Amino acid sequence: MAKIINKKDIGTLLERLNDYEIYGPLEQDGVMSYGKLDIEPLLEFRNSRKPPKDYFFPQTEKLFDLKREGPRFTGAEEAELPDDKFLLFGTRPCDARAMSALDKLFTWDYVDPYFVKRRENGTIISFCCVPPTMPGPNCFCTSVGGSPCSEEGSDMLWSDIGDSFFVEAVTEKGEAILSAGGDVFKDASSDDQNVADLTKKQAKEAISREIELTGLPEALEATFTNEYWEEMADRCLGCGICTLLCPTCHCFDMNDVVKDGKGWRERTWDSCQYPYYTIHASGHNPRPVKQHRQRNRLYHKFLYMDRNLDVVGCVGCGRCITQCPVNIDIIEVASDIKEVAKECGDGAACNAEEAA
Ligand code: SF4
Ligand code: SF4
Repeated sequence: MAKIINKKDIGTLLERLNDYEIYGPLEQDGVMSYGKLDIEPLLEFRNSRKPPKDYFFPQTEKLFDLKREGPRFTGAEEAELPDDKFLLFGTRPCDARAMSALDKLFTWDYVDPYFVKRRENGTIISFCCVPPTMPGPNCFCTSVGGSPCSEEGSDMLWSDIGDSFFVEAVTEKGEAILSAGGDVFKDASSDDQNVADLTKKQAKEAISREIELTGLPEALEATFTNEYWEEMADRCLGCGICTLLCPTCHCFDMNDVVKDGKGWRERTWDSCQYPYYTIHASGHNPRPVKQHRQRNRLYHKFLYMDRNLDVVGCVGCGRCITQCPVNIDIIEVASDIKEVAKECGDGAACNAEEAA
């Protein structure tokens, strides 16, 4: 049965969840972000500039220590897996859905023990994007399989209904939060349910942008070397913001670090928009110019992930549109490329000799 929690009882709930490390929405230096909740959480906010994916896939993460015998490193120490139980409070549903996409990615050809352990340890409470916090002008979650109140990837969903939140447990982890909270959660009335249903409907209707996925993988495949990608590259600065701020982007680089007599291997987020990202040890770079890298971003999200994992690599959060310094808009690019493919037909006519 659905529950409600009065907003003034949220502090009591968070105190009762004292066996979780709790992270949630905060304002830091005028920017909405996520951090350790030792102050009152924000309850009304649109979305963070940076998604909270780093709680599951940190920006930099040690993979293992190197064993040392005298002056030499002789092997690797067993990896230490993260074991802190934590709660991510106030995630937006698109960012929670992104974790669900990453579940597939990080257990696909290799089971990534670090990501998987963090997913086991973490509980996600998502806030639906309902009034007074409605979807943003560049949100398009509904056209990539989500919604402003999607359950996917969340353990619990909270919808603002005025003085209270309407609360739904989605998974056993969400049920555990209900049990731990005890009497701060009250049974929802049919009026509460009606208000929640109405606000969810309003939120869905407020989504004003849409990406058309039908035929997009085929259009991408037909235009691999089309000159359109060169035009894109002329505009793109190669800054990588669109990937580093994307909740579903997951590429990383690995480095061996030696410092103060100790050694370890770590991985750090990387971006397919950077020229060194694909460079081989031989010096050969299969994506030496920006047009290849811009193209890869679209291919990866809408063709490769679709084929390999049966998932769209975009949850429609709109960050890459809002934050791109030169206003490159992934919805417009998808629409353009479909138009290009339609005009030139399949195969050779769509493709030009590529500049290296
Ligand atoms: S954010 Fe914009 S300019 Fe920067 S790499 Fe992405 S598309 Fe290019
Ligand atoms: S591609 Fe853009 S809109 Fe889609 S999930 Fe990534 S940042 Fe959000």
